[in-house]
Amino acid sequence: MPVFDDGQTETRTPVSSVVETDVLIVGSGPAGASAALLLSTLGVDNMVITKYRWTANTPRAHITNQRAMEIFRDMGIEDQVLADATPHHLVGDTVFCTSIAGEEIGRIHTWGTHPAREADYQLASPCLVVDIPQNYLEPILVKNATVRGTQTRFSTEYLSHVQDADGVDVLARDRLTGAEYTIRAKYLIGADGARSKVAADIGLPYEGAMDIAGSMNITFKADIERYVGHRPSVLYWVIQPGANVGGIGAGLVRMVRPWNEWLIVWGYDINEEPPAVDEAAATQIVRDLLGMPDIDVEITGTSLWGNNEMYAKHLQKGRVFCAGDAIHRHPPSNGLGSNTSIQDSYNLAWKLALVLRGQADRSLLDTYSAERAPVAERIVRRANRSSREFVQFFEVLGLLDATTEAEMVAAIEERKANTPEGAAKRAALVAAMELKNYEFNAHGVDLGQFYRSAAIVSDGSSLPAPGRDADLYYEMSTVPGSRLPHAWVGDTMHRTAMMDLAPYDRFTLVTGIAGEAWASVVDKVAHEFGIPLGTVVIGPGQEVTDLYYDWAKLREIDESGAVLVRPDKHIAWRSVTLPEDPEGALRTAMRQILGKA
Ligand SMILES: Cc1cc2nc3c(=O)[nH]c(=O)nc-3n(C[C@H](O)[C@H](O)[C@H](O)COP(=O)(O)OP(=O)(O)OC[C@H]3O[C@@H](n4cnc5c(N)ncnc54)[C@H](O)[C@@H]3O)c2cc1C
Repeated sequence: MPVFDDGQTETRTPVSSVVETDVLIVGSGPAGASAALLLSTLGVDNMVITKYRWTANTPRAHITNQRAMEIFRDMGIEDQVLADATPHHLVGDTVFCTSIAGEEIGRIHTWGTHPAREADYQLASPCLVVDIPQNYLEPILVKNATVRGTQTRFSTEYLSHVQDADGVDVLARDRLTGAEYTIRAKYLIGADGARSKVAADIGLPYEGAMDIAGSMNITFKADIERYVGHRPSVLYWVIQPGANVGGIGAGLVRMVRPWNEWLIVWGYDINEEPPAVDEAAATQIVRDLLGMPDIDVEITGTSLWGNNEMYAKHLQKGRVFCAGDAIHRHPPSNGLGSNTSIQDSYNLAWKLALVLRGQADRSLLDTYSAERAPVAERIVRRANRSSREFVQFFEVLGLLDATTEAEMVAAIEERKANTPEGAAKRAALVAAMELKNYEFNAHGVDLGQFYRSAAIVSDGSSLPAPGRDADLYYEMSTVPGSRLPHAWVGDTMHRTAMMDLAPYDRFTLVTGIAGEAWASVVDKVAHEFGIPLGTVVIGPGQEVTDLYYDWAKLREIDESGAVLVRPDKHIAWRSVTLPEDPEGALRTAMRQILGKA
């Protein structure tokens, strides 16, 4: 074992030899850093290479949805994320206005903060939506991954790879020295963002187009609490001349830290020369959107980026997988990018762990694409539609025909008039505001991910027809492929979420007292397949009690039946009752899930 300068005798490979790892991850963004954290938590040897010297240097993603928060909870880092996040109750009122100091056109309760929606969100998950800027989140992910075993190499660029029957040789460049070297991995994850070179190298098939609109980010510091503290929100949408050009629908003033750090997103015409955004230009845009012509602002950064509408139809080739923006590229509308990237990795990491340990057949890995490609398509379509639907605001306010600022102001003013035109405008605004629920309260898009693949054993049933709009509302179910429904269970002293009973490092069979016979069956099947598989019996007198009798109402099976929960909290299989041969039934299901049929 080599001894290094610092006296440590860990199993580090001397620089001159080929570096080896089980899973090499390219990228330390939300997709890559969470893949590393998940793999390290499962004890899988992994390494991250990332091009720059540190994590994200701009806020970018911020809305962190319930599903992502659940993953952090599962990884034991929920508290760390909450400590750096703006809490749920401050993310509430999304405001539409002519400027921060100017007129308000309307507000909408967002991210599940409407009193009528709060219940939907609380009933669906133990976690609520919070706001944590990407430059605060990534260090938490990378730190915890590295503490748990990830080898993290900054300033290291992926150049190319070659795969063979047993692994992947990746050529990497150390950007400090210029030295190129090979990393030999059993599997490679390309989490290298919207311009993914890994995805290009494996020739993933895409649908859609890149750079369909241009946006600029301006980060700045200015204390504007006086104008926003009484209507706390993370998003203030500004309708001003030019706000409908390119970009994400309208001008945006976004809170980074309450209430003195901000990010402005403003559009530009991508078919023209990219604008030069120097300090003077940035300050002018900030002052215009704030509606405060003399305010002192400190510009902390500017950048240009393209809005995309593109998703991969297949996500992997051989031993190489792509995750995150590499496979779904879309505007930030609905706040889905980072969240979905983290969820991609959550889907993939446990499968890699089982295959690497020889507990599952390699075909289990094929289910990654089968399960996540439909999600990629859905979110890309939703985000772009939400961005386009902003046009309805401009339309109902009569701004599409306004050619001068004066005309625009007059058109917005008209909504106050006691005239038929004013009344029509007010009525149309109600509908336009309502439509934005599809961007800001799309609970069904956030949580309603349903999987169909060989790792889901159908019982012939299909999801109940949605009683409400499937984008806005999430319906819980235990039909195989669904996400495990949430309920609070526990005992006299503790309240536990259903998801906590099914940790990421094992399969879990959940049953009731009449299904106690499953327990010995589970032990036998676990032993036979050599996999981590536990049983939870829920009922009075058991370790876990159905505290509110909610689980009994949600489980959609008899008390003697069982649901088999995968590590990623999707239902892999269920049995409505205790069958005559429960061992045979579970064995057959397990065989299919592990690809050993
Ligand atoms: C203004 C804005 C607001 C947003 N708001 C939200 C939001 O509220 N909620 C949300 O969920 N999402 C939001 N997003 C989207 C979110 O930022 C992205 O979806 C997310 O960053 C994608 O994560 P990723 O890990 O796939 O890729 P990235 O974050 O792009 O990370 C890519 C990584 O790959 C590395 N890399 C690239 N090429 C190489 C190479 N050749 N070699 C080595 N390393 C390489 C990079 O250094 C980086 O570490 C927003 C985006 C923007 C622009």
